[in-house]
Amino acid sequence: MSYLVLARKCRPQKFQDVVGQSTIVRILQNALRRKRVAHAMIFSGVRGVGKTTLARIMAKALNCHNSAEAPCDHCSSCEEIKAGTSLDLHEIDGASNRGIQEIRDLKENLRFLPTKEKYKIIIIDEVHMLTMEAFNALLKTLEEPPEHVFFMFATTELHKVPITILSRCQRYELKRIAFAELVSFFAKIADQEGMNISPAALDIIAREADGSVRDGLGLLDQVFSFGGETVTEDDLTQILGLVDNRVFARLAAALLAADLAAALELLHDIYGQGMNTKRFSLGLLQYLRSLLICKICRQPEAILDISDQEMIDLEEIAAKYSIETLSNIFNIIFQGVDGMRYSSYPRAALEMIFIKAAHAGNIVPVSSLLGRLDALLAAEPLELASAQPVTKSTGTGGTSSLAAGQIPVSAPVQESQKIESGSKSVAAEHREILKHKDVSANIPPADSPADEENLAPPVPASEDRLAAPVRAVQRDWDGFVGHVKERKKWMASALELSVKAREKNNELIIKFDDSSECLYLQEPENIKLLAEFAQDFFQRELTVKIVVNDGRLGDKLGGGEAQEERRTLARDPRVEMSLEVLGGEIAGIRTGPRSR
Ligand SMILES: [Zn+2]
Repeated sequence: MSYLVLARKCRPQKFQDVVGQSTIVRILQNALRRKRVAHAMIFSGVRGVGKTTLARIMAKALNCHNSAEAPCDHCSSCEEIKAGTSLDLHEIDGASNRGIQEIRDLKENLRFLPTKEKYKIIIIDEVHMLTMEAFNALLKTLEEPPEHVFFMFATTELHKVPITILSRCQRYELKRIAFAELVSFFAKIADQEGMNISPAALDIIAREADGSVRDGLGLLDQVFSFGGETVTEDDLTQILGLVDNRVFARLAAALLAADLAAALELLHDIYGQGMNTKRFSLGLLQYLRSLLICKICRQPEAILDISDQEMIDLEEIAAKYSIETLSNIFNIIFQGVDGMRYSSYPRAALEMIFIKAAHAGNIVPVSSLLGRLDALLAAEPLELASAQPVTKSTGTGGTSSLAAGQIPVSAPVQESQKIESGSKSVAAEHREILKHKDVSANIPPADSPADEENLAPPVPASEDRLAAPVRAVQRDWDGFVGHVKERKKWMASALELSVKAREKNNELIIKFDDSSECLYLQEPENIKLLAEFAQDFFQRELTVKIVVNDGRLGDKLGGGEAQEERRTLARDPRVEMSLEVLGGEIAGIRTGPRSR
């Protein structure tokens, strides 16, 4: 007796035997029940997920003598279809019958009524292989299919089927079979065949099957033909040349730890076991991908279709490394494996890839390099300042030595005075700017008196001050911006757009008119950096707070006559209409000299 391969032996004959396509099965059964089966259907999906199986079950159901909803599987029609002898079921392999002549012959045949059964059923497998002429010849028939004909197409490459054909078909997209479903299905088959396969070995087979029932059954065939009643994971490695995930885990760990010797030894062992290099490298790639997903995603189990134990192991390794390191290694292996396809020496190619990958931990990300560069650039003026303090202080403005924020209290008095006097005019200027910006409209009145006090013209430097130059936020604001400019140029530019800065309860409050001016500045890491700069410069603990003037309209209106004027403006019909048309809102109303 010849051996019937499992894929044929286990081919589902009824809807309930189909593995992992419950949704599509339900839709098809409903269509049968309501007698609404489309005359052209197309089943798509990767190989071995049940496309032609479903088409055959549908064919049986349509022609079954006993039931209109599902094949009975024992009437003469069902039996003939099962045995492949039905005269009214035409199964065509699109790959070998792809020309126009075959389609013409088929069309000729369709003109006649079914020989024995109710319907003629045409199944074309790999339909995407048909030539364009063949597709065109089919079109007319698909547009108006004869009542006694049903077309069922199957394809692994839906995108290669012309849209003109697709638009005339009912489409069914089959999923890959989930890992757990494959495991339980293979366990059932093994049981039926009287084989004892360890759970870990079943996991390996399901993983290798990668969503395809047929691929997994092919592997099981090999395992069964090997003989022996009990199969362990080690046997699998022997029989199929498959590698246990533990090997990938060890290899990945070696590469991540830059232990090249261990990685090459592992490869040597695996090679000695007759492992297929290509399959092996793909397995490694898959393992690294899983590690990365484990690291990045909050719910990796939603993406990774693996066993619970594998998930635990992955998480343990992933926790030890950064996303950057993991993605570096993944990238190197990915590119290497892709290039390996054409190599005549796959093993040597793989070794080269390992050498590169083992150095992946040493690759410095660009962001980190830029960070270092920033630090270096910031450090340079510091050194200059401390090396030549006098020259620097007599230079224009003298803000850079001040900006360094490193001047000891015992710094030359002369220098401190220079800085103070230099700041006076700057503070005054700042105040001028604030006035022009119509402060009353932007800043709640309650703050104003205190602000005015702070903005009072600076008194000449007293002896106290000279001894311990305490920097004030408003008075020394421009000096601070200069300090920042030498460390982060963009940040200084952003600060220059601020309308006001003040200090309250150890908080440096910086106000902006428009949130778009301080978007980047508001990012937590930038706030943190700015706080560091502020602490350096003002020599005290300061936190930074960015405030944007987009409070309620009432706040912006201010008081007195000006308030009345603004209210009138806000209620102007033209303004109201603009707001409605543009879907906007009033951010602020300015009636200062600048606006007029
Ligand atoms: Zn039947």
